[in-house]
Amino acid sequence: MITGKNYIGNQLSAKGNKTYKTFNPKLNIENEHTFFEASEEEIEKAVISASEAYKTFKNISGSKKAEFLNAIADEILALDDELINTYISETGLPEGRAKGERGRTIGQLRTFADLVAEGSWVEATIDTADLDRAPIPKQDIRKMLVPLGPVVVFGASNFPLAYSTAGGDTAAAFAAGCPVIVKSHPMHAGTGELIASAIHKAAQKTGMPDGVFSNLNSAGIDVGIQLVKHPKVKAVGFTGSIRGGRALFDLASQRPEPIPVFAEMGSVNPVILLPQATKNKGKALAETYAKSITLGAGQFCTNPGLILGIKGEALDNFTNILSDEIVKIEPSCMLHPNIIGNYERNRSTALEQGGISITAEYDSDVMINHARQTVTKVEGKTFLENTTLHQEIFGPFSMVVQCENAKELETIISNLEGQLTGTILAEDEEASTYNSVIEALQNRVGRIIFNGVPTGVEVCPAMLHGGPYPASTDSRFTAVGIHAIKRWVRPFSYQSWPNDLLPDELKDENPLGISRLVDGNHSQRKI
Ligand code: NAP
Repeated sequence: MITGKNYIGNQLSAKGNKTYKTFNPKLNIENEHTFFEASEEEIEKAVISASEAYKTFKNISGSKKAEFLNAIADEILALDDELINTYISETGLPEGRAKGERGRTIGQLRTFADLVAEGSWVEATIDTADLDRAPIPKQDIRKMLVPLGPVVVFGASNFPLAYSTAGGDTAAAFAAGCPVIVKSHPMHAGTGELIASAIHKAAQKTGMPDGVFSNLNSAGIDVGIQLVKHPKVKAVGFTGSIRGGRALFDLASQRPEPIPVFAEMGSVNPVILLPQATKNKGKALAETYAKSITLGAGQFCTNPGLILGIKGEALDNFTNILSDEIVKIEPSCMLHPNIIGNYERNRSTALEQGGISITAEYDSDVMINHARQTVTKVEGKTFLENTTLHQEIFGPFSMVVQCENAKELETIISNLEGQLTGTILAEDEEASTYNSVIEALQNRVGRIIFNGVPTGVEVCPAMLHGGPYPASTDSRFTAVGIHAIKRWVRPFSYQSWPNDLLPDELKDENPLGISRLVDGNHSQRKI
């Protein structure tokens, strides 16, 4: 049941004066529930109780954490239609998408449960003593990953489940042993509260400490700012715009004790169309890309916003077919009037730039809050000189850049900001003749795709979802897949520590049977 209140650990609370409602973009009306923004006192309480919870939660066994994560998944499923209907009413997204995203969220929680139940993720490393070593005896040193402390999570508007309240950041932080305070996204506050209730029930059923999770409502940026500045908060996970992520990163760096902000932000996901592929399969690629650009009204961080090719008949052909195909697709509803407002504004800014022309624009009447898909083209030189054209336009928008030759293509790629993904569309035999173009792309992205589309992020251990700034604030980490846990931990060493006082992961007997690096060899054996 939605109450509009904040979850401060085990307590529902509504002490703030500011209230707000979510919005149904399809019906163009406000939803019924009123949400209470967290007051300063409530924020303080949530952080203090997270920091108290940390004292026990950090030492909870992997198998108990797995029970907790699996129980969250079960409780989310138990929300059933109430969750799906609330999701739809707060986003305008269809039922299939809501259920698909729920499946992904459940899958992420269960994957982290399996990871911590098995236990080897802590990277236990043991160097045994050699007290006879000359000239200095070698001490026994043992290292493993330990949780950072209370973590604040900000979700994005376009993934109310998978990148929000119990999304990848929260699941990974719980798996690591960090209590989580979620700054609820105002556009899907009802969905957020339902998920928070599921986490709360799971925490109680599996005996987790009060304060292991809080969910704070906010109508604007103040709650998030207070949270990031709080001295007891030790790290931040953010998914959203470059502007928002950068503001929080700067805030966290300016604290007396700076803390890491792992921000996953926007991207234009360049697609490189090599000449043979353009010539031989331009039609099929154009049809595929028309669908990819408009998928979910273009509201994906991996949306292909930039297509780069070498000038000529084949590229013209591709652009024409892409333009013809994209206007055949029915426009979709965007998430919120603010999102469509930003789309229209950013699109207009791009279209006002010199040298850019529209090749396709859906020009029939559209329903309220539905986005008109747009394809544009521009010369390579113009694009290179005007960085306004390099910015993400969040929505069903893409730009074809016509380069003079491979050299210009490479120069443009090298001048792009960091990106989540880059795609190469090529015939098998031509890829090797464009090595320097491919290497330039590899330097700018977190994931490179061969003959595919960037939309769709598989959740698996080998996935890297991140990239050089501004795709993320730290390209060494991923937001998707089990290695996302590494954002919420730090390595910690014990020197000459008594065996019975060591954590189980580092004890001689290896009671958890985990894989460890012992004196340079991977092993599950006792010492
Ligand atoms: P957003 O406007 O940046 O908002 C994300 C969250 O951050 C919201 O809760 C927002 O609160 C908060 N926030 C924003 N600016 C802030 C500031 N200066 N101080 C404190 N809090 C701040 O992004 P969005 O519209 O929700 O999401 C769309 C964007 O997310 C797109 O750019 C998309 O590419 C990106 N995205 C990236 C990924 C990825 O994995 N890389 C995944 C999905 C989406 P308020 O709403 O209260 O301002």
